[in-house]
Amino acid sequence: MRIGHRTATGVEYSHEIPSFGLGVFLMSEQGECKSACLAALAAGYTHIDTARAYSNEHEVGEALVESGVSRENVFITTKLRRMHATGFDEVLEHCQKSLELLGTNYIDLYLVHAPPEDTEHRAPVWKGMEHCLEKGWVKAIGVSNYGAHHLDEMQEYATYLPAVNQIEINPWLQRPELRAATEAIGAKVMAYSPLARGHKLADPSLIQIAERLGCTPAQVAIKFCHDLGCITIPKSSRADRIAENFASLDVDISSEMSEISAMECGYVSGWDPTSEP
Ligand code: NDP
Repeated sequence: MRIGHRTATGVEYSHEIPSFGLGVFLMSEQGECKSACLAALAAGYTHIDTARAYSNEHEVGEALVESGVSRENVFITTKLRRMHATGFDEVLEHCQKSLELLGTNYIDLYLVHAPPEDTEHRAPVWKGMEHCLEKGWVKAIGVSNYGAHHLDEMQEYATYLPAVNQIEINPWLQRPELRAATEAIGAKVMAYSPLARGHKLADPSLIQIAERLGCTPAQVAIKFCHDLGCITIPKSSRADRIAENFASLDVDISSEMSEISAMECGYVSGWDPTSEP
């Protein structure tokens, strides 16, 4: 999949992004993130989604070195922590820190983790992100947890509109309006918590669909997000599930799309800054 930044004159800094990756949130035990990344890279994953807030960027970097996979064959997404999203200089400082922790000289995709809480900080923070892009420290910039009104406001101050909006998407929270608002500014949707953090895997409707398709419930949920056109980043610390989740890409769920769509219930599995002012 290709991402890029819409500007007044066209699309700039266009970049290829793998539409599937490993999420590494809540891998807090020492070495957990590194071994999950190693298992994922061995299984064929080419994209890892981390964040400064996860305190494991250094383990992603270590796994990259240990795996022997060359840097250009792995796509790394990381995020500017919300508490650091306070101004232009702070963005530059924390981008440099993430580069250092990851042990790399560029980040493929750098996201503002959530709309800065102080609305006055939103424009200077984005200007800082744009500076990181122009400097080549990052190949693409985007946002996460931005609602349609946050994206709208960006059109007033952004030179480069975001390449991505990373939001929670899964069969229980499908967000057609927010996906459309994201696509309307030229950005791609990245689906986080595609398994609703594992909260809904015992859903009887999901289990029945999986039985009819001959796959696992997790594979149904992941493939649904992917088939909506979202870059999809399930998390697992277990090598067997990492492989299972990757194999979801080969499952054909087309006959069950309307059944899965009917599971929508507005369930938010974690936080939801998209509705903040
Ligand atoms: P997910 O929806 O990916 O669910 C992860 C949970 O499901 C874990 O408990 C995992 O357990 C379990 N699981 C994974 N695979 C399977 C399987 N095949 N069968 C059964 N259970 C399974 O949750 P996340 O919230 O972690 O979302 C994914 C990624 O999205 C994050 O890791 C992070 O990178 C990103 N994210 C971004 C956010 C943001 O604000 N931008 C917020 C939340 C997530 P186990 O590890 O034991 O297998």
